[in-house]
Amino acid sequence: MELNEEQQQQFNDIKNNLATVKQRIIDACKKAGRDPASVRLLPVTKTVSAERLRIAFAAGVDEMGENKIQEAREKSEVMADLGIKWAIIGHLQTNKAKYLARFANEFQALDSLKVAEELDKRLQNEGRAIDVYVQVNSSGEESKFGLPPEAVRDFVQHLPQFSSLRIKGLMTLAIFSTDHDRVRECFVKMRNIQAMLRQEAPAGLSFDELSMGMSGDYELAIEEGATVVRVGQAIFGKRPLPDSHYWPGLG
Ligand SMILES: *Cc1c(COP(=O)(O)O)cnc(C)c1O
Repeated sequence: MELNEEQQQQFNDIKNNLATVKQRIIDACKKAGRDPASVRLLPVTKTVSAERLRIAFAAGVDEMGENKIQEAREKSEVMADLGIKWAIIGHLQTNKAKYLARFANEFQALDSLKVAEELDKRLQNEGRAIDVYVQVNSSGEESKFGLPPEAVRDFVQHLPQFSSLRIKGLMTLAIFSTDHDRVRECFVKMRNIQAMLRQEAPAGLSFDELSMGMSGDYELAIEEGATVVRVGQAIFGKRPLPDSHYWPGLG
């Protein structure tokens, strides 16, 4: 595509930011004695316009994480020509499952059987299956979605019946805090749940993936075992509105 001067600047910024994040992922892996190939960077594109995302695509972003189904759906339609892989990483209402089933490659925020049932049904109608992560509320904050850690073991026993949901792992948002110890605690809790599930989950489900870590804490998450980091602002710049806007209840 032809880029004007402003677009060229956006292209350069995204490309540089992407390179920086990738390098920091490699450094964090080295520090933790991990193979950098074991960590996937999922760029989070919420609030970034489709016009800018075309530029991002040209700069190397070919999968996009969105937390709102409506926004993701609109973008997927206007960028259908690019073949982008869409990951839905936010809470899904049951009545929106049909939209997700049509275009998303991945759903990282499963936390109810009602949603699992509806999504499975809709995927079967579409003749599709997608990767799914179970969301856990590792911080215990009321504002966050996800299962309480103690509910995960029972929850996963019900998942094998949903044949269009390929269960791959767990997802969490750590506590929003400048206190690294409290953030790390959330990640360690997730790693322990993952270890438990590897022993006790029903056959056919996999819990190899741990999606945790965002712009502010992805290096810490990698130290504690993240296999997917979901990074938005470190690639696309600060969002115009504070996090409390996107996560109601944060205050
Ligand atoms: C927005 C969002 C992210 C990315 O947050 P940044 O601060 O932009 O890196 C990660 N996960 C979820 C679920 C999000 O909604």
